Amino acid sequence: MIQLTDLVKDYGNLRAVDHLNFEINEGEILGFLGPNGAGKTTTIRMITCFLTPTKGNISVGDLNVLDNPIEIKKMIGYLPEHNPLYTEMTVYDYLKFTAEIRGVLNFKQRLKEVSDKCGLHGIVSKSINTLSKGYKQRVGLAQAILHDPKILILDEPTSGLDPNQIAEIRELIIELGKEKTLILCSHILQEVQAVCDRIIIINKGKVVADGSAEQLQSSFQNRMKVNLELTATPEEIQEMAAALTNISVLSAKLKGEYVQVELEFDATADRRAEIFNYVKKKKWTLLEMHRENVSLEHVFRNLTIVEGGRK
Ligand code: ADP
Repeated sequence: MIQLTDLVKDYGNLRAVDHLNFEINEGEILGFLGPNGAGKTTTIRMITCFLTPTKGNISVGDLNVLDNPIEIKKMIGYLPEHNPLYTEMTVYDYLKFTAEIRGVLNFKQRLKEVSDKCGLHGIVSKSINTLSKGYKQRVGLAQAILHDPKILILDEPTSGLDPNQIAEIRELIIELGKEKTLILCSHILQEVQAVCDRIIIINKGKVVADGSAEQLQSSFQNRMKVNLELTATPEEIQEMAAALTNISVLSAKLKGEYVQVELEFDATADRRAEIFNYVKKKKWTLLEMHRENVSLEHVFRNLTIVEGGRK
C-alpha cells in the first residue's frame, strides 16, 4: 500500500533520512520507532507530502508523492504530535471548518459517524479549550478521520495524557486500526507492543529492525532465562544444574523457607520440562516457574545506543 524506495532527505549537509526501503501493507498497524533525531518526523512529512524527498520516492497505492501529492493527501489522515487545535472554537465549528477545507460533502453524516467512533457525543457544542487533554485528543482523532482516509498516521498520540486517558485513547486507536492502515509513532514501547502488528526501528535515518515484537525480541534472545521459587537449598539447586548439564545458575538465594533461583540455558533447547521433572522427583514444592522475555526496551536500546552515547 505504501512503498518507500531509496528514500533520502538532506537538510543542507545533514542526512536526516538515509536510503529507507520498506513497504507498509494494507490494513497493517505499524509502529514506527527511533530515538529523537532518528528521522521519523521527516519520513512522515514526506509520506504526507509536506516535504519533498531529496532522492528516492514514495508510492501510495498507484500514486506517487512527486506526481500526485493532492490525491495522496486525501488518502491520509494525520494527527501530529502536540495536536494543533483551534482551542477558541467549539468542537462542532472546528470539525465543520476542517470538513470544508478537505471538501467533505456530507458533513452532518460524517460528524455523526466520527462522533460515534471517537466518543464525542455530549461535547460537540463545547469550546475546545474547556475539554480535558483526553477529549482534545479524541477531537484530534476525529479531525484525522473526518474525510474517511484509508491511511491514518498518529504521532505520539498519548503523550501528556494520564494513565486512564492513555488506556481510552489506546483502545480507540486499536478500534481505528481495524479499518485503516495505521502508522503509529510512539516512544512508549509498551504501547507499540500492545497495538502494533509490526515494528520498524530507525536510527540515524536507516532501518535497524523490522518485524513483529516477538520476532525482534527473539532475535535478541539466544539464552533463555527462567525464574523459580521453590523449597530447596542453594546447594541442591547447584546439584540440579550439574545433574541436568548445560544449565547455568545465575543466582540462588534463600528467602525464608524458599529459594529464589535464576537459571539460564541455550534458547534453542527448552529445558523447562526437565527442570520441572527434577523438582517433582525431589518432591520439592514449586511455587513459581516463569520464563523471562527480553523486553522491547532492551531491543530498542541495543539497536540505538552504544556505551557512552547513541550509535
Ligand atoms: P525524529 O522525528 O526521529 O526525532 P526528525 O525527523 O525530526 O527526527 O529529525 C531528523 C534530523 O534532522 C535531526 O538531526 C534534526 O535535527 C534534523 N532536522 C529536522 N528538521 C530539520 C529542519 N527543518 N532543518 C534542519 N534540520 C532538521
